[in-house]
Amino acid sequence: MIQFQQVSKSYPGGFDAIKNLSFEVPDGELVFLAGHSGAGKSTLLKLMAGIEKPSSGAVLLNGQNLARMSRASLPFVRRHIGLIFQDHKILYDRNVFDNVRLPLDIIGFDHAEGRRRVLAALDKVGLAGKEKLNPISLSGGEQQRLCIARAVVHRPSILLADEPTANLDSDYAHDILELFKSFHQVGVTILISAHDESLMADYGRRILRLKHGQFTA
Ligand code: ADP
Ligand code: ADP
Repeated sequence: MIQFQQVSKSYPGGFDAIKNLSFEVPDGELVFLAGHSGAGKSTLLKLMAGIEKPSSGAVLLNGQNLARMSRASLPFVRRHIGLIFQDHKILYDRNVFDNVRLPLDIIGFDHAEGRRRVLAALDKVGLAGKEKLNPISLSGGEQQRLCIARAVVHRPSILLADEPTANLDSDYAHDILELFKSFHQVGVTILISAHDESLMADYGRRILRLKHGQFTA
């Protein structure tokens, strides 16, 4: 369960990106986050991942206040979260396999089991057979899939995706959303942001709509 309790976030300079938000996301829900550029979507997801700290209020993951957690325990919490963020860059000095393997190396995962996981994740996103390629040779859509494989390879229980369908044509965007749906079907809690709400309409899921850091109806 993810809980926001009267969360506000002001950036240095005094800009209020998130204003007094309270809401909950139960385990296993797939939720969309809509809103124009600058509405606060990335900030909300970063607060959820513990990348940004609230200026006031509390963000709780399974009852634990992220801001009260010690520096040492935050990485353990992060292991349960998969992130697909625009500023998480693909590394072009290594091949597709090694890019997806990265999160497992950080955890210190067993080598053989790690290899199996990486190949399973690549297979899942439709990149089987491309593991030895340099990511530069992948199309934009394939690079997005690579980011998704990297985000799920450690089997997170929460997946946060910041505008994963930006810059993709609508057929391709739907393929990506179907992929998220398949993770949802195995029990993963998922938040997906997008400024284009029309994509979300077909899915019959809850849509949180942000405007100037607050929810609208
Ligand atoms: P969205 O993801 O909906 O486009 P963001 O959460 O990125 O919205 O941004 C919300 C507001 O906070 C914007 O006005 C943005 O300029 C501001 N903002 C975001 N990150 C920072 C930052 N690191 N420092 C200062 N202002 C920021
Ligand atoms: P296999 O089913 O071949 O044993 P895995 O168990 O490694 O393969 O994972 C199955 C697929 O589901 C993988 O692509 C994995 O990345 C994806 N997945 C992502 N998150 C989860 C999760 N939290 N639980 C289960 N599977 C997940």
